[in-house]
Amino acid sequence: MPQATSDTGLQSSPDDAQPRACPACGSSGYQRLAEYSPDHWEMAECTDCGFVFLRNPPGYEALKEEFAWETTYRAKKASSKGSTPFSPVARKIRNALRMSRNKSRSYRRWFGDGHVLDIGCGAGHRVRAPMTPYGIELSTGLHKIADERMRARGGYCVHGPGAEAIWEFPEETFDGILMYSYLEHETEVGKVLAGAHRALKPGGGVFVRVPNYASLNRRVVGPKWCGFRYPDHVNYFTLQSLTAVAAKAGFTTRLVNRISLHIDDNVSVLLRKKPTS
Ligand SMILES: [Zn+2]
Repeated sequence: MPQATSDTGLQSSPDDAQPRACPACGSSGYQRLAEYSPDHWEMAECTDCGFVFLRNPPGYEALKEEFAWETTYRAKKASSKGSTPFSPVARKIRNALRMSRNKSRSYRRWFGDGHVLDIGCGAGHRVRAPMTPYGIELSTGLHKIADERMRARGGYCVHGPGAEAIWEFPEETFDGILMYSYLEHETEVGKVLAGAHRALKPGGGVFVRVPNYASLNRRVVGPKWCGFRYPDHVNYFTLQSLTAVAAKAGFTTRLVNRISLHIDDNVSVLLRKKPTS
């Protein structure tokens, strides 16, 4: 099996990287996945719960600038070209499903026309009118753009890591929270989900979309799978592991991409607060 190669094209250094325990169950037992560990980045599988994660992620400070999402995304797009053998069929099915579902319409159906927080909001275009947009963004450049855009529509964007910034909002503020291509970047999974639970109104929901580690494509193309991005993807979820971490934070999980899940490179779910007994 070919070895994965680092795709950032940057002179990365794990100087501030601290080995971490399994973000799903807290266990420190792990097995190194050599074929998925390029350069000095160490991918691990938890020996207790099977969760796959980057053991030595860079600190938040490095992610603000050097490993900012917009930088590593461009590099990965170039290095993954031609690594999707199922693309002609899978892409057609996925596109058909995608076209049939207008994302913004889904958000409004789930969250009404209320206040919606987008964690890892990038440039802040995802929450459309008449919903009121709020955001959290770690990248310095993108935060500035998003904040201007959101303030013009009655909301605002906080600059910082999601797991810390989420606690700055008052309790029960949001009708909906988006974690769109965000949770795979977050080293503090339990903390951000707990914060989302607190910041969500009763009856509100959290939409989560992350790369699907259980996808057929990952199992076939291995290290060249489009979901691997070093070092900024630090968690590799399956539907089962996502459901488990969400349950710990007090959420029930409903699968959104039920029909396409096994051939989809992403898994999408809607979390609701568990009823309190
Ligand atoms: Zn574990």
